[in-house]
Amino acid sequence: MPRLLLLLTAAVLLTGCASSPYGVGRFGTVVVDAGHGGIDRGARGQYSTMEKQLALDTAKRVERGLRSRGFRVIMTRGGDYFVPLPQRAAVANRQWNAVFVSVHYNYAPRSAPYGTETYYYNAKSYPLAANIQRELSRFSNSRGVKRARFHVLRNNTKPAALVECGFLTSPNEARKIRSSGYRQRIADAIVRGIANSSR
Ligand SMILES: [Zn+2]
Repeated sequence: MPRLLLLLTAAVLLTGCASSPYGVGRFGTVVVDAGHGGIDRGARGQYSTMEKQLALDTAKRVERGLRSRGFRVIMTRGGDYFVPLPQRAAVANRQWNAVFVSVHYNYAPRSAPYGTETYYYNAKSYPLAANIQRELSRFSNSRGVKRARFHVLRNNTKPAALVECGFLTSPNEARKIRSSGYRQRIADAIVRGIANSSR
């Protein structure tokens, strides 16, 4: 009996933490959510770059990448205006065959933390978060896939992930993030992670 239990546990661990790409089922629509906007500026870091602007720029790059791969994309905001959190999740909840990906930049009270991390809330969202983070980890310091009760994740009926694309409070990382080439790299990684999840 203990041996069977051990085998079962091992099987669960293997399927739950598989390192090869696996998906959330086929989907044709992606709701891309640029964090913050308008009066909600988000994190503010080095060089007075604001999270809301960087998140929108990166989200638009993700939008273009996904469209070129044939996905239908819905943006929760396309400009610098405030969108309440419940409205953001509701956009995804109205779709039939979709996933939701929220784009953010991070901050910390100290300048030392740097790197990328991707959040999910429920088990069906884990593969989406893991696939995105795997692509980001190829060129950034991966802080891993984490579970959190963020509003846009918790209230989402679709597989949903929130990506923290780097720390604006890290002088080194903020300098990278300021370059459009680096933001494109981030966006390309997110696009690959999303596309790998449609299976
Ligand atoms: Zn944010």
